[in-house]
Amino acid sequence: MSTDIVLKNASVLTMDAGQPSAELVAISGDKILMVGDNEALDSVAGANTRIIDCQGRTLVPGFNDAHLHLFSLIRKLLSIELSPAAVSSIADIKEAIRRKAEKTPPGTWLSGTDYNEFYLAEKRCPTRWDIDEVAPGHPVVLTHRSLHACVLNSLALSLAGINGDTPEPEGARIERDLATGEPNGILVEMLAYIRSEVMPPFSDAELDEAFALADRHFLAYGITSFQEATYRNDRSRWQIVRRYKDTGRLRSRVSMMAGPGTRREFQEDGLIMGSGDIHLRLGAVKIMLGESAGQGELTQEELNTLVLDCHRTGFQLAFHAITESAVESAIDALEYVNGRYPVAGRRHRIEHCSECPPYLLERLKKLGAVIVTHPSTIYYNGERYLATVAPEQLPWLYRIKAPLDSGVVVAAASDAPVVPVNPLAGIYGAVTRKAESGQVLLPEERISPAQALSLYTVNAAYASFEEDIKGSIAPGKLADLVVLSADPTKVPPEKIKDIKVEMTIIGGEVVWEG
Ligand SMILES: [Zn+2]
Repeated sequence: MSTDIVLKNASVLTMDAGQPSAELVAISGDKILMVGDNEALDSVAGANTRIIDCQGRTLVPGFNDAHLHLFSLIRKLLSIELSPAAVSSIADIKEAIRRKAEKTPPGTWLSGTDYNEFYLAEKRCPTRWDIDEVAPGHPVVLTHRSLHACVLNSLALSLAGINGDTPEPEGARIERDLATGEPNGILVEMLAYIRSEVMPPFSDAELDEAFALADRHFLAYGITSFQEATYRNDRSRWQIVRRYKDTGRLRSRVSMMAGPGTRREFQEDGLIMGSGDIHLRLGAVKIMLGESAGQGELTQEELNTLVLDCHRTGFQLAFHAITESAVESAIDALEYVNGRYPVAGRRHRIEHCSECPPYLLERLKKLGAVIVTHPSTIYYNGERYLATVAPEQLPWLYRIKAPLDSGVVVAAASDAPVVPVNPLAGIYGAVTRKAESGQVLLPEERISPAQALSLYTVNAAYASFEEDIKGSIAPGKLADLVVLSADPTKVPPEKIKDIKVEMTIIGGEVVWEG
C-alpha cells in the first residue's frame, strides 16, 4: 500500500485510548495507514509521498457536528444578515436590502435574517413601507431573531394574498396599521407558512451558491462530518444532498435523519437506518416533542406507538426534547418500548436535553440513551439563559459532566444555524461554562478539554453508529483530520476560543487551508 500523505512533527491527539498521542500520521487513499513517531518517517514515506510538516501544531480527528440543520443554514447563508452584529438601525437594514436588490434580478425573493428591534436605534420593527422604499420590485421577507415574527414588503404581501380584508389566521397574527387597518407587513407565527406555501423552492442557481458557501463554512471550522437533524428531511432533500456530494461540492460527510412522516419515503426507496455510504447515510428518525415542536402535539400513547414502530423497523430515535417534561416524555416512550423489545445498544438519542434533573438522568442511563448537547450555546446564549431560565431549572441546564460521570455518552452539536457551527466555541463553553459576556453557567459542570474534544469526535461518531470508521486517529479509520493552531488541552482555557483551524483533511485530501 503506498503512502500518499505523511503529517509529521504534529502533536497528535488521537482520541484513541490505545495510543492517545503521537507525532506522525500516514495516509493511504482515504484512510489512515499508520500512527507513530517522527522516526517512522523513512520507513513509511515513498518517493511520491507528500510530506506535511505540522511544525508542532496539533492534529485532531475531524470535528463531527452531531446535530445541525443544513437547509436552514443554507437559507441563512444566502440571506442578508440583519443581526445586531451587522446593523444598528432601520436605515442600515434598508441600505443592506438596497445593495442586495441591486445585484439580484427583479422578482426574485430576498431574505434577511435575525433582525432584533431591541438593538435598533429606532426601537421598532421595520415595516413593509420601509422595505418598499429600497426594494419595490423584489418580494422581501425579513425574519426576527426569534423566528416567531417576520416582515414582508408590499410585493411579498400581495404574493401571499394578504391585504386589509384578510381575516386573522388561527394561531397567528397579521399586524395592522391602527389608523387604516392595512397590514403593516409584520406577521406573527406565519413564517413557516410563508416559506412553505408562498416562497418558491430554491432555484438551482441559489442552491449552487448556497452549497458553495456552506461547504467552505464547514471546512473552515474543521467540520468533516455533520448530522442533519431536521424532521422535514425527505427524499427530495436527500437527492439534493446526494447531488452535491457526488459532484464533490459538499465535502463534509453527512448523516441525514428522517422524520416520522418521511421515513416511509426512504423505506420505499430501499433506504433504512444506516443505508447509503461513507459520504451520505441515513440516520435516525427525528421526533419533535414539546412546545416549539411545530409538528403537532402527540399524546403519550401515540408517541409510544410511533416510537415502538420506528424501533421495530430498525431506526434509531432522536427526540427533540428541551424541557424537563419533553425529556421525560421521550424517556417514558423508550421505557414503554423497552418493556417489549430491549432498547440497550440502540443508542436512542435525546437532542438538546436542556433540562435534565438527576431522576431523569438515572432513567436515561438505564436505557443506554445518548445525549446530544450544545456546549456552544453556553458561549453564545449563556447570558440569556441566566437571565430567562426559571431558577428551579437552572441547576440542570445543559449539564455535561454529570451525564459523563454517570456513564452516559454525550455528543456535541451546534444546532446551526441557531448558533455558529464553530466547535472551538463549543469546546470553550464545555471547559469554562462561560458565556461571551463572561458570566458562568453551572461551573460544577465543567469538563476537561480532552473530554470536550471527545464530544465532537468519538462520541459524535458513536451517536450515529460510525465509531468504527471515524472519530479517532487510528489505522484503518477514515483520514478525516484537522490541524489546529494550538493545543486545546495545553493552552489556558481562556485561549481555547481563539484557536483556529489551519487545515482540514477529508478522506486523505487537503480540502481547506487557513
Ligand atoms: Zn435542531
